[in-house]
Amino acid sequence: MNILITGAAGYIGSHCAINFINNNYNIIVFDNLETGHIEIIEELKKLADIKFIKGDLRNKSDVENLFKENKIDAVVHFAAYSLVEESVKNPSKYYNNNVVGTLNLIDSMVKYNVKKIVFSSTCATYGEPKYTPLDENHPQNPINPYGSTKLVIEYMLKDYDKAYDLKSIKLRYFNVAGCDEKSRTGEWHDIETHLIPNILKSTFENDSNKKFKIFGNDYNTPDGTCVRDYVNVEDLVEAHRLALEYLIKENKSDAFNLGTQKGNSVREVFDTCQKVLNKKIDVEIAQRREGDPEILYSNSQKAHKILNWHPKKTIEYSIKTAYEWECKLREILAERSG
Ligand code: UDP
Repeated sequence: MNILITGAAGYIGSHCAINFINNNYNIIVFDNLETGHIEIIEELKKLADIKFIKGDLRNKSDVENLFKENKIDAVVHFAAYSLVEESVKNPSKYYNNNVVGTLNLIDSMVKYNVKKIVFSSTCATYGEPKYTPLDENHPQNPINPYGSTKLVIEYMLKDYDKAYDLKSIKLRYFNVAGCDEKSRTGEWHDIETHLIPNILKSTFENDSNKKFKIFGNDYNTPDGTCVRDYVNVEDLVEAHRLALEYLIKENKSDAFNLGTQKGNSVREVFDTCQKVLNKKIDVEIAQRREGDPEILYSNSQKAHKILNWHPKKTIEYSIKTAYEWECKLREILAERSG
C-alpha cells in the first residue's frame, strides 16, 4: 500500500509518518516546507526508504505531477495553516491554502482514481460549545476562519463522496500534546501559541519568550482557568492508522472526535509541568485571549467503538516528551546556526 501524507514535515504529519513506517506502509511524503522543516524529513528518511516530494498544494501542476508520477492508494491529509489568530487577520491566506489546496488535492484524487482520504479536522469546527462533552452531533458553527476552512473541507468531502465516491474519514482533534518518544520529531512552530510548549519554552534561559502567561483566571471553571482536552500526539496518529484501515475495509465515510474525554485546566497543566520538570516555573496572569471558549472536552466514544481507538498516554508523558523535544530542538537550532 502506498500512502501519501501531505504536511509530513509538520508536527502531527511527521508523527503520523513514523507510525505508518512502523506499521510497514510505504509512504510518500509531500510538503512545501513553509512551516514544516527539512530536518524532520531527514529524520524520517533514516527510518525507511521514503520518497519526499517538495511541493505546494496550491500549485495545480505540483499536485498533478504528484499523482501522475506516483502510484498512490490512499491519502492522509495534514497540510494546512493552523494559527487561529492569524486566520482572523488574514482569512484569504487560510482559504487559499487550506480550502483551495485541498480542492486541488481531491480533484487530482478523483482524476487519478484514488478514492480514500483521512482528513485532519478540528474541534474548532464546533465553535462555542452548546454542551460538553462535545460529541460528533454537536452543531458545527466555527467562530474563526481557521475552523471555517476545516468545516468547508468537511462539506467538500461530503459532496465528493456523493458525486465521485471519494470516501473520507474526518478526524476532529482536540488539543494535541507531546512528542515522539525518541525526540525524532516534535512541535516546531516558528510562532508558538500552544499552552504546553509555551510553558516549557519559558523555562529555558536566554529564550526570547519571556515569562509564561495564563490567559485569564476569571472563567467560570473550578480554578478560573480554561479547560481543554489534551490528547497525546502518538495516540492521535494511531487513530489515523485505524481510520485508514477502517476506510480500506469498510469503504464508508465518517467523522470522529479524537480526545481523551477528560478536561484539564490551564492551571492544572501548568502545575503538572512544574511536577514533571521538578522545577518552579514563573507565571503571570494576563488578560483573557480573545475567542477562547471556557471549556472544551470531547466525547470520543464513537472512535472507541468504531475504530477501536483507545488513547493510553497520560498528560505527564506528553509533557515529558515535549520537554525532551524542546531540549533536542535547541541542539538542532544550534547546529543550524553553525
Ligand atoms: N494558554 C495560556 N497561555 C499560553 C498559551 C495558551 O494560558 O501561552 C491557554 C489558552 O488561553 C487556552 C489553553 O491554554 O485556554 C489552550 O490553548 P492552546 O493555544 O494550547 O490551544 P487551543 O485550545 O486554543 O486550541
